Amino acid sequence: MHTDTPSASGAGTLFIVATPIGNLDDLSRRAEQVLASVDLVAAEDTRHSGRLLQHLGVSKAMWPLHDHNERARSDALLERIAGGESVALISDAGTPLISDPGYVLVRAARQRGIRVVPVPGACAMVAALSAAGLPTDRFLFAGFLPAKAVARGKVLESLSREVATLVFYESPRRVVALLEDVRSALGAEREVVLARELTKAFETWYAGSVADVIEALHADAHSGKGEYVVMVSGAPSSGQGPVAVDGDRVLSLLIAELPLKKAVKVAAELTGLARNDLYQRALELKDG
Ligand code: SAM
Repeated sequence: MHTDTPSASGAGTLFIVATPIGNLDDLSRRAEQVLASVDLVAAEDTRHSGRLLQHLGVSKAMWPLHDHNERARSDALLERIAGGESVALISDAGTPLISDPGYVLVRAARQRGIRVVPVPGACAMVAALSAAGLPTDRFLFAGFLPAKAVARGKVLESLSREVATLVFYESPRRVVALLEDVRSALGAEREVVLARELTKAFETWYAGSVADVIEALHADAHSGKGEYVVMVSGAPSSGQGPVAVDGDRVLSLLIAELPLKKAVKVAAELTGLARNDLYQRALELKDG
């Protein structure tokens, strides 16, 4: 059973501390106090986070904790906490564990009965969603998709019927490729909002259909730099649009009038269904 009881007697606490995603003023007072009070700071990149601590006038012992050493380091850190020391985990930016290291440590800490306390603050995903104007009652955060196109396409296909708003992190080098894959897997009409360089001097937003946003990125000389959150509207839930459409009927009518590829393209635009799914279905309808 898991409860929120304090650590086993004498043990310290593991604080999970969010740090800014650009604007240093987004660090909370509580985060500052916690960082000043702990015995040790575990950080993804100690040089990077050392600069933040220096800015705060805090001098602390720091331990590197990143994807490659997390398993090995966690045991040693938990020993220190079990011995009474308190530790703050921070990542390079934003909230630890959100596409950042920390899961192994937090899970092991909870299993050992060590108290884990979040100190909330900036998170690019939440900041982006809060101002995008897309539905937030349901969203699916998928982090970074695979870098390889085939694997990325498969994940997107698996999300094509998802009605929740989709949220991804992506590097500026791959953002256009991601949107092109979104267009083929989810259809050209999905609404997309991109949040670039949130909280920084050159914060920029792009919004529109997938096709519009790809065009806007091509037209913007600065789009190849900076950090991006990519948000995509969910699939239209069947029967909730102004008219509920029968995909098979739309396809059959179009196949009778148009070449197959064109029929699929138009059907995707009319129904909002994924082009690849419609193509598969069109072949079946044609055969049978
Ligand atoms: N833990 C972080 C958080 O809470 O958002 C995310 C870390 S993840 C390694 C880094 C990715 O988050 C970037 O590639 C980008 O997709 C997104 N990101 C971080 N800071 C951002 C910012 N200021 N504006 C837009 N996206 C940002």
